[in-house]
Amino acid sequence: MPTETFEFQVEARQLLQMMIHSIYSNKDVFLRELVSNASDALDKLRLEALRDDSLGADVSDLHIALETDQQARTLTVRDNGIGMSREEVVQLIGTIANSGTAKFLRDLKEAEDGAAAEGLIGRFGVGFYSSFMVADEVTLLTRRAGEREGTRWTSTGEGTYTVETVGDAPQGTTIVLRLKPEDAEDRLYDYSSPWKIREIVKRYSDFITWPIRMAPRPASGAGEQEAPAEPETLNSMKALWARPRDEVTDDEYHELYKHISHDWSDPLETVRLQAEGTFEYQALLFVPAHAPQDLFMQGYKRGVQLYVKRVFIMDDCEELLPPYLRFVKGVVDAQDLSLNVSREILQQDRQIQLMHRRLTKKVLSTVKDMMSAAPDRYATFWREFGRVLKEGLLSDAENRDAILGVSSFATTHDPAEPTTLARYVERMKDGQEHIFYLTGESRQAVENSPHMEAFRAKGIEVLLLTDPVDEVWVEAVPEFDGRALRSVAKGQVDLGTEAEKAAAGQEREQQQQEYAGLLAWMAERLSEHVKEVRLSSRLTVSPACVVSDSDDVTPALENLYRAMGQEVPHVKRILELNPKHPLVAGLNRTHGDGSPGTALEEAAELVYDMALLAEGGELSDPSRFVRLMADRLERTL
Ligand code: ADP
Repeated sequence: MPTETFEFQVEARQLLQMMIHSIYSNKDVFLRELVSNASDALDKLRLEALRDDSLGADVSDLHIALETDQQARTLTVRDNGIGMSREEVVQLIGTIANSGTAKFLRDLKEAEDGAAAEGLIGRFGVGFYSSFMVADEVTLLTRRAGEREGTRWTSTGEGTYTVETVGDAPQGTTIVLRLKPEDAEDRLYDYSSPWKIREIVKRYSDFITWPIRMAPRPASGAGEQEAPAEPETLNSMKALWARPRDEVTDDEYHELYKHISHDWSDPLETVRLQAEGTFEYQALLFVPAHAPQDLFMQGYKRGVQLYVKRVFIMDDCEELLPPYLRFVKGVVDAQDLSLNVSREILQQDRQIQLMHRRLTKKVLSTVKDMMSAAPDRYATFWREFGRVLKEGLLSDAENRDAILGVSSFATTHDPAEPTTLARYVERMKDGQEHIFYLTGESRQAVENSPHMEAFRAKGIEVLLLTDPVDEVWVEAVPEFDGRALRSVAKGQVDLGTEAEKAAAGQEREQQQQEYAGLLAWMAERLSEHVKEVRLSSRLTVSPACVVSDSDDVTPALENLYRAMGQEVPHVKRILELNPKHPLVAGLNRTHGDGSPGTALEEAAELVYDMALLAEGGELSDPSRFVRLMADRLERTL
């Protein structure tokens, strides 16, 4: 096949431009990225050779080799791993598959200053393309294990790349970087210097489990009779999780995190666990500092890496942590599993289930510790991952209390600072029995909903729950610390001291008699929409609101079920009227005057529609509402 020229995909081109113009200040990390890819390629080849003995690949000396050439100003990174086919080169190197990329690039465009853009790049991570931070031309020669022909890929990173099939490529991947001339003068950036390369590998890639070798420098001149020098292995290859805890620095942990996660920023928290005894394993888990863009997308790769006795077995091992901890990255190394353990076996393995339980509890207890020891970091954690963690309130009954214990919620108590349930309970008023909340689409809609009026008037704190998952978990969680969780938009509201309640009861009885006629008539008029019309004890300002019965499904939950394709019957709600509101008093007077006419009928309808609007709900016939309203307004002019 002749040499073909391809254009980079638009997103890839944008990313490359940023690399070429080096918006990321720490250029050294390009080597970490290339070594990380090479290490993955060696892992993949080892596994594939294990599964397929007809592969015909040489796995006797898997390693990474680095070569510097100061005269030619090149750096070569070579691995004898899995390699790539021609299609794979075009697919993997020419395009960006990550589903979060489009959003990332949008954010990046909006980032106004360089520091913000750099921060974004750091969160996203850029693998192979980061070579263009230091090279003005990159050549990649690769041969897929088991195939005869290889592929040469070349690009300057400016718009296009060429691909050509070659007959004599060695197994694996060789990447040659032609280093930018402007970096030659500066010792700090001279990547053709063995000294520099040695330092970077030591700093970023020491724990890589494959040998990273540096070829000896060619003999400096003729006439020297030295024996050919052995290649030098630059990394210790020691697994961090197997080294004594006090020997490993935070920086070393962080580099492992970056290797595993493809994130360029430090993790928020490192979790170590060493289980001894009959089933021995080590876990090194990380909580990232940022939620990835695709955390809520389908196909998000979750799970940690599984090793068996220091040997890499699989990525994204889902069996080790529950889905609501899918943002946790890391390594679990088990001593007693078989080296060719499969996903099917893992799903049934009792030991794995025990690990799953223990690791889950360990992560949750780490978050709990963070709450008291590092409130700022906990706040970051909750901002980034609270929404995911709350999924566990539904799916993990065993750890429900632990999850509730580390959860925070927006509250009417403090507009700026979310609260824990424990603190809410501490602040509960005398005589207050329940923990009150209101769910809804936005904080503003919830805060200003008529349902809040009596609570505001009495100074009773209400939690403001506006994540979609909140609608669902509140149905599944009956209580916290012996206090029932109660929606302020459900059931009857009965607030205040015993004396206040008694006085209110008397007053209500009297009003009940006064309004009985209107209530019965309105219930009849609006029977298509509501199952009852009653007087309200939760309103102080608004004329009316709509509430649900204590055990009924809320409209939001109904919609959610429908969106998931489940058939649910429509549940009618209850219209509550505020007898102290002049409009309601007026309705009652007019109704008492004799046979209700069209004007009163329309007014009843409008009152119901307004109640729906006030809670942020949707009208079944908005244009009719507008027409009735316009007529009314016109008559007032
Ligand atoms: P990432 O590593 O974040 O997926 P890269 O752009 O670095 O992104 O690499 C894209 C893909 O190209 C990798 O996922 C891998 O499949 C392939 N690849 C990169 N380097 C190598 C290599 N040295 N050997 C084999 N495949 C590689």
